[in-house]
Amino acid sequence: MNRLKLTDAEHQSIEQGKSLIWLNSAYQDKTAAPGVPEANGLYQAEARLERFAPVLKQLFPELESSGGLIESPLVRVDHLNAEINPLPGSLFVKADHSLPVAGSIKARGGIHEVLCVAENLALEHGLLKNDQDDYLKLLSAAGRQLFEQYTVAVGSTGNLGLSIGIMGAALGFKAVVHMSSDAKEWKKQRLRNRGVRVVEHEADYGAAVEAGRLQSEVDPFSYFVDDERSPRLFMGYAVAAIRLREQLQLANIAVDAEHPLFVYLPAGVGGAPGGISFGLKQIFGEHVHCFFAEPVQAPCMLIGMAGKPEIEPDSIYDFGLKIDTDADGLAVGTASQWVCDATRDLISGVYIAADSQLYQRLYQLKTLEDIEVEPSAAIACEGPAMLNTDAGRRYLESHDLIQHLNESTHIAWLTGGSFVPSEEYQRYYDKALALMAENGEVN
Ligand SMILES: *Cc1c(COP(=O)(O)O)cnc(C)c1O
Repeated sequence: MNRLKLTDAEHQSIEQGKSLIWLNSAYQDKTAAPGVPEANGLYQAEARLERFAPVLKQLFPELESSGGLIESPLVRVDHLNAEINPLPGSLFVKADHSLPVAGSIKARGGIHEVLCVAENLALEHGLLKNDQDDYLKLLSAAGRQLFEQYTVAVGSTGNLGLSIGIMGAALGFKAVVHMSSDAKEWKKQRLRNRGVRVVEHEADYGAAVEAGRLQSEVDPFSYFVDDERSPRLFMGYAVAAIRLREQLQLANIAVDAEHPLFVYLPAGVGGAPGGISFGLKQIFGEHVHCFFAEPVQAPCMLIGMAGKPEIEPDSIYDFGLKIDTDADGLAVGTASQWVCDATRDLISGVYIAADSQLYQRLYQLKTLEDIEVEPSAAIACEGPAMLNTDAGRRYLESHDLIQHLNESTHIAWLTGGSFVPSEEYQRYYDKALALMAENGEVN
């Protein structure tokens, strides 16, 4: 396994399930060239979401106030900053845990992909004349009759299934979600309540995806959302960057050479954090520093990014790990090769943290800011502390950032939580308390 870009010490830490921050030697400082062709997908996705806004507003009353856009607030968290950020600078959370319709970051990519499918079918079958047509036609009887012939399928640890299932069913598609063994019971129940067919798999996420893909392939009326290789998901996620730019402007926060932006993104298979990083790099270039965050028991993106381009990433099982984590949204054994290749020179690094650390952050979010998230999201709050380690400081020094830290902005991307039932959240909170007592962090 020497082919991985890991030092012996890093390799050992990963095997031992220890926390660390890995710096990506393939990372390149780049200034975004405006109008580069790569960025097209990003702006096309944004335009598509705009076209569908009237439809979404009609289907989901909670989108009334945003005019049919699915967006979350950017929230300044000074109390949390004082507690968890050893570096100077300000701290915000991007509140995707409260994204309407799907309750997680998956609302961005998942819903975008279902809309792509609906739009293409409608254009092909003459329901829409072109993309300037009245999209409310999709909600007519003719639209229903068209969509109900088709199945939209996906393999998921839970949240992507919720997003695809909810959106697919709302437009009248048949929806099938292949769930891995980590998926939570309440997520399955919620989907079944909406008429989504849930197929349970004993094995892990990768196996659920594979099973879904195979079943879908033999059915010409079935469309499979492939979380491991989907430009449509990726670009849907990336739109977050355009929206964030507006929010930063409204908050009067500059992002430039004197005002660096650090973003901490929980990573599973890689699509959501990869897409968002891609978007952020298009907009802010070298002035934004994107770090992925993973549980020590599922560091698949770290292993993937440390691997060679254009070959299947190694799995966490090769390191003797077992995906033994409560961060179910990040419970993935092998990263998406496609995402690794698409983001290989864009990502500054990846840090991995123990469940006990993310539970402490979950507790602090609640007690200091009254924000309730699922464990997967809480890991984003570990970012500033990880940048303050020896390796993290090496990054800050080598990119000439130390002298600009006073003017720095840190964003912990909170990826999921508002759909978690309150009894379930209470269990997380109790577990956080118990773990912290064990470690002597509260009395
Ligand atoms: C899916 C998910 C992520 C990570 O997204 P990937 O595309 O799998 O990398 C992070 N947090 C939560 C809560 C998620 O559901």
